[in-house]
Amino acid sequence: MARYRHYDDFPTHFSQPSVQLLRQNAEKSMEKAGKSGKLYDPVIPKGNSRNICVSWWGQAWCSNMERYADYASRLGRGKRYISSGTILDLKISQGTVNAKVQGSRSTPYSVSIQIDPLSEKKRKAITAQCSREIRSLEDLICGRFPDSLKNLFLERNGLFPGPGEIHMNCSCPDWAVMCKHVAAVMYGIGVRLDDNPFYFFSLRGVDVDSFVAQALDNRVESMLANAGNVTERVIPEDQITSLFGVL
Ligand SMILES: [Zn+2]
Repeated sequence: MARYRHYDDFPTHFSQPSVQLLRQNAEKSMEKAGKSGKLYDPVIPKGNSRNICVSWWGQAWCSNMERYADYASRLGRGKRYISSGTILDLKISQGTVNAKVQGSRSTPYSVSIQIDPLSEKKRKAITAQCSREIRSLEDLICGRFPDSLKNLFLERNGLFPGPGEIHMNCSCPDWAVMCKHVAAVMYGIGVRLDDNPFYFFSLRGVDVDSFVAQALDNRVESMLANAGNVTERVIPEDQITSLFGVL
Protein backbone atom coordinates (compact mmCIF):
# COMPACT_ATOMS: atom_id res chain seq x y z
CA MET A 1 0.00 0.00 0.00
CA ALA A 2 1.31 3.40 -0.92
CA ARG A 3 2.44 5.55 1.97
CA TYR A 4 2.31 9.28 1.87
CA ARG A 5 4.75 11.40 3.79
CA HIS A 6 2.38 14.27 4.11
CA TYR A 7 -1.25 15.22 3.72
CA ASP A 8 -0.23 17.36 0.74
CA ASP A 9 1.25 14.31 -0.96
CA PHE A 10 -2.13 12.54 -1.10
CA PRO A 11 -3.65 12.10 -4.54
CA THR A 12 -5.88 14.95 -5.61
CA HIS A 13 -9.22 13.16 -5.17
CA PHE A 14 -8.43 12.49 -1.47
CA SER A 15 -6.98 15.84 -0.50
CA GLN A 16 -9.22 18.30 -2.33
CA PRO A 17 -12.38 19.40 -0.55
CA SER A 18 -15.16 20.16 -3.01
CA VAL A 19 -15.69 23.72 -4.22
CA GLN A 20 -19.20 23.55 -2.81
CA LEU A 21 -17.94 22.66 0.68
CA LEU A 22 -15.33 25.41 0.56
CA ARG A 23 -17.93 27.99 -0.51
CA GLN A 24 -20.39 26.92 2.20
CA ASN A 25 -17.69 27.09 4.87
CA ALA A 26 -16.53 30.47 3.58
CA GLU A 27 -20.06 31.87 3.73
CA LYS A 28 -20.49 30.69 7.31
CA SER A 29 -17.14 32.12 8.37
CA MET A 30 -17.94 35.50 6.78
CA GLU A 31 -21.24 35.56 8.60
CA LYS A 32 -19.56 34.73 11.88
CA ALA A 33 -16.86 37.36 11.35
CA GLY A 34 -19.52 39.97 10.59
CA LYS A 35 -21.40 39.18 13.78
CA SER A 36 -18.28 39.42 15.91
CA GLY A 37 -17.37 42.77 14.34
CA LYS A 38 -14.28 41.57 12.42
CA LEU A 39 -13.56 43.62 9.34
CA TYR A 40 -12.77 41.05 6.68
CA ASP A 41 -11.89 42.16 3.18
CA PRO A 42 -12.35 39.13 0.90
CA VAL A 43 -10.32 38.64 -2.26
CA ILE A 44 -12.45 38.45 -5.38
CA PRO A 45 -10.36 37.88 -8.51
CA LYS A 46 -11.28 39.89 -11.59
CA GLY A 47 -9.78 37.27 -13.90
CA ASN A 48 -10.70 33.64 -14.45
CA SER A 49 -9.44 30.38 -12.97
CA ARG A 50 -6.59 30.32 -15.48
CA ASN A 51 -5.57 33.95 -15.40
CA ILE A 52 -6.47 35.12 -11.94
CA CYS A 53 -5.19 38.68 -12.43
CA VAL A 54 -6.07 41.22 -15.08
CA SER A 55 -3.62 44.12 -14.73
CA TRP A 56 0.02 44.28 -15.76
CA TRP A 57 1.07 44.43 -12.11
CA GLY A 58 -1.06 41.47 -11.02
CA GLN A 59 -0.08 39.33 -13.99
CA ALA A 60 3.61 40.17 -13.62
CA TRP A 61 3.41 39.18 -9.94
CA CYS A 62 1.88 35.80 -10.90
CA SER A 63 4.37 35.11 -13.72
CA ASN A 64 7.22 35.93 -11.38
CA MET A 65 6.04 33.30 -8.88
CA GLU A 66 5.28 30.71 -11.54
CA ARG A 67 8.76 30.85 -13.04
CA TYR A 68 10.39 29.49 -9.87
CA ALA A 69 10.68 25.70 -9.82
CA ASP A 70 10.30 25.73 -6.01
CA TYR A 71 6.76 27.05 -6.39
CA ALA A 72 5.55 25.87 -9.79
CA SER A 73 4.18 22.47 -8.76
CA ARG A 74 2.36 23.84 -5.70
CA LEU A 75 0.76 26.96 -7.09
CA GLY A 76 -1.95 25.19 -9.12
CA ARG A 77 -3.92 24.28 -6.01
CA GLY A 78 -3.81 27.92 -4.97
CA LYS A 79 -5.61 28.93 -8.17
CA ARG A 80 -8.42 26.50 -7.40
CA TYR A 81 -8.66 27.77 -3.85
CA ILE A 82 -8.76 31.45 -4.67
CA SER A 83 -11.31 30.84 -7.44
CA SER A 84 -13.53 29.11 -4.88
CA GLY A 85 -13.77 32.31 -2.83
CA THR A 86 -11.70 30.98 0.08
CA ILE A 87 -9.63 34.08 0.85
CA LEU A 88 -11.88 35.77 3.39
CA ASP A 89 -9.43 38.49 4.25
CA LEU A 90 -6.07 39.72 2.97
CA LYS A 91 -4.26 42.76 4.32
CA ILE A 92 -0.96 44.14 3.08
CA SER A 93 1.28 46.36 5.16
CA GLN A 94 5.02 47.11 4.98
CA GLY A 95 6.61 43.82 3.95
CA THR A 96 3.82 41.73 5.45
CA VAL A 97 0.71 39.96 4.21
CA ASN A 98 -1.83 38.58 6.67
CA ALA A 99 -4.75 36.54 5.42
CA LYS A 100 -7.58 34.28 6.52
CA VAL A 101 -8.18 31.34 4.21
CA GLN A 102 -11.11 28.95 4.38
CA GLY A 103 -10.34 25.27 4.17
CA SER A 104 -12.30 22.09 4.73
CA ARG A 105 -12.52 22.77 8.48
CA SER A 106 -14.97 25.32 9.79
CA THR A 107 -12.34 27.69 11.25
CA PRO A 108 -10.36 29.58 8.62
CA TYR A 109 -6.58 29.26 8.64
CA SER A 110 -4.22 32.17 9.29
CA VAL A 111 -1.61 32.71 6.62
CA SER A 112 1.25 35.14 6.98
CA ILE A 113 3.83 36.01 4.38
CA GLN A 114 6.87 38.20 4.96
CA ILE A 115 8.74 39.71 2.06
CA ASP A 116 12.24 41.10 2.46
CA PRO A 117 12.67 44.79 1.79
CA LEU A 118 14.22 45.85 -1.48
CA SER A 119 18.00 45.98 -1.23
CA GLU A 120 19.59 49.42 -1.19
CA LYS A 121 21.15 48.66 -4.58
CA LYS A 122 17.79 47.88 -6.21
CA ARG A 123 16.12 50.81 -4.50
CA LYS A 124 18.77 53.15 -5.90
CA ALA A 125 18.41 51.61 -9.37
CA ILE A 126 14.69 52.30 -9.55
CA THR A 127 15.01 55.79 -8.05
CA ALA A 128 17.72 56.66 -10.57
CA GLN A 129 15.67 55.29 -13.46
CA CYS A 130 12.62 57.30 -12.40
CA SER A 131 14.73 60.43 -11.98
CA ARG A 132 16.04 60.10 -15.51
CA GLU A 133 12.58 59.76 -16.92
CA ILE A 134 10.19 62.13 -15.29
CA ARG A 135 7.28 60.64 -17.25
CA SER A 136 7.89 57.31 -15.53
CA LEU A 137 7.53 58.98 -12.21
CA GLU A 138 4.24 60.53 -13.25
CA ASP A 139 3.04 57.16 -14.52
CA LEU A 140 3.94 55.51 -11.23
CA ILE A 141 2.20 58.21 -9.22
CA CYS A 142 -0.91 57.76 -11.34
CA GLY A 143 -0.79 53.98 -10.80
CA ARG A 144 0.06 53.23 -14.44
CA PHE A 145 2.95 50.98 -15.27
CA PRO A 146 5.71 52.75 -17.19
CA ASP A 147 7.05 50.74 -20.13
CA SER A 148 10.52 52.10 -19.56
CA LEU A 149 10.69 50.42 -16.15
CA LYS A 150 9.50 46.98 -17.22
CA ASN A 151 12.97 45.45 -17.51
CA LEU A 152 13.94 46.66 -14.10
CA PHE A 153 10.95 44.91 -12.59
CA LEU A 154 10.88 41.78 -14.68
CA GLU A 155 14.49 40.67 -15.05
CA ARG A 156 15.66 37.77 -12.92
CA ASN A 157 16.83 39.26 -9.63
CA GLY A 158 14.71 42.26 -10.56
CA LEU A 159 12.37 44.08 -8.23
CA PHE A 160 9.86 41.25 -7.84
CA PRO A 161 10.92 39.01 -4.95
CA GLY A 162 12.50 35.59 -5.45
CA PRO A 163 11.92 32.51 -3.23
CA GLY A 164 14.81 33.44 -0.94
CA GLU A 165 13.10 36.73 -0.12
CA ILE A 166 9.65 35.32 0.65
CA HIS A 167 8.92 33.72 4.03
CA MET A 168 5.58 32.01 4.52
CA ASN A 169 3.56 30.35 7.22
CA CYS A 170 0.13 28.80 7.66
CA SER A 171 -1.75 27.59 10.74
CA CYS A 172 -3.09 24.49 8.96
CA PRO A 173 -2.00 21.03 10.12
CA ASP A 174 -0.92 20.23 6.56
CA TRP A 175 1.72 22.92 6.59
CA ALA A 176 4.55 22.19 4.19
CA VAL A 177 6.82 24.54 2.26
CA MET A 178 3.81 25.89 0.46
CA CYS A 179 0.36 24.55 1.32
CA LYS A 180 -2.68 25.34 -0.83
CA HIS A 181 -3.73 28.14 1.53
CA VAL A 182 -0.42 29.95 1.12
CA ALA A 183 -0.51 29.29 -2.63
CA ALA A 184 -3.96 30.92 -2.76
CA VAL A 185 -2.68 33.94 -0.83
CA MET A 186 0.25 34.30 -3.24
CA TYR A 187 -2.33 34.76 -6.02
CA GLY A 188 -4.38 36.95 -3.69
CA ILE A 189 -1.47 39.39 -3.53
CA GLY A 190 -1.65 39.64 -7.34
CA VAL A 191 -5.38 40.43 -7.11
CA ARG A 192 -4.67 43.22 -4.63
CA LEU A 193 -2.04 44.59 -7.07
CA ASP A 194 -4.79 44.65 -9.73
CA ASP A 195 -6.64 47.09 -7.49
CA ASN A 196 -3.69 49.11 -6.31
CA PRO A 197 -0.15 48.74 -7.73
CA PHE A 198 1.26 50.78 -4.86
CA TYR A 199 0.91 47.72 -2.66
CA PHE A 200 4.00 46.50 -4.47
CA PHE A 201 6.06 49.24 -2.83
CA SER A 202 4.57 48.48 0.59
CA LEU A 203 5.48 44.83 0.12
CA ARG A 204 9.06 45.69 -0.69
CA GLY A 205 9.38 48.12 2.20
CA VAL A 206 9.59 51.19 0.00
CA ASP A 207 7.88 54.30 1.30
CA VAL A 208 6.35 55.75 -1.84
CA ASP A 209 6.35 59.37 -0.63
CA SER A 210 10.04 59.38 0.22
CA PHE A 211 10.79 57.40 -2.95
CA VAL A 212 9.04 60.02 -5.10
CA ALA A 213 10.69 62.85 -3.15
CA GLN A 214 14.12 61.24 -3.64
CA ALA A 215 13.52 60.69 -7.35
CA LEU A 216 12.47 64.33 -7.73
CA ASP A 217 15.51 65.52 -5.73
CA ASN A 218 17.78 63.51 -8.00
CA ARG A 219 16.03 65.01 -11.00
CA VAL A 220 16.49 68.55 -9.73
CA GLU A 221 20.14 67.85 -8.89
CA SER A 222 20.74 66.48 -12.34
CA MET A 223 19.01 69.47 -13.95
CA LEU A 224 21.15 71.84 -11.88
CA ALA A 225 24.29 69.91 -12.81
CA ASN A 226 23.34 70.15 -16.48
CA ALA A 227 22.64 73.85 -16.07
CA GLY A 228 26.19 74.16 -14.65
CA ASN A 229 27.60 72.41 -17.70
CA VAL A 230 25.74 74.77 -19.99
CA THR A 231 27.15 77.77 -18.10
CA GLU A 232 30.68 76.43 -18.53
CA ARG A 233 30.08 76.13 -22.23
CA VAL A 234 29.08 79.79 -22.53
CA ILE A 235 31.69 81.57 -24.58
CA PRO A 236 33.48 84.29 -22.63
CA GLU A 237 32.66 87.85 -23.73
CA ASP A 238 36.12 88.59 -25.12
CA GLN A 239 35.92 85.50 -27.29
CA ILE A 240 32.52 86.58 -28.60
CA THR A 241 33.89 89.92 -29.64
CA SER A 242 36.85 88.30 -31.39
CA LEU A 243 34.46 85.82 -32.99
CA PHE A 244 32.48 88.58 -34.60
CA GLY A 245 35.47 90.78 -35.19
CA VAL A 246 34.13 93.55 -32.95
CA LEU A 247 36.54 95.47 -30.77
ZN1 LIG B 1 -2.17 25.84 5.01
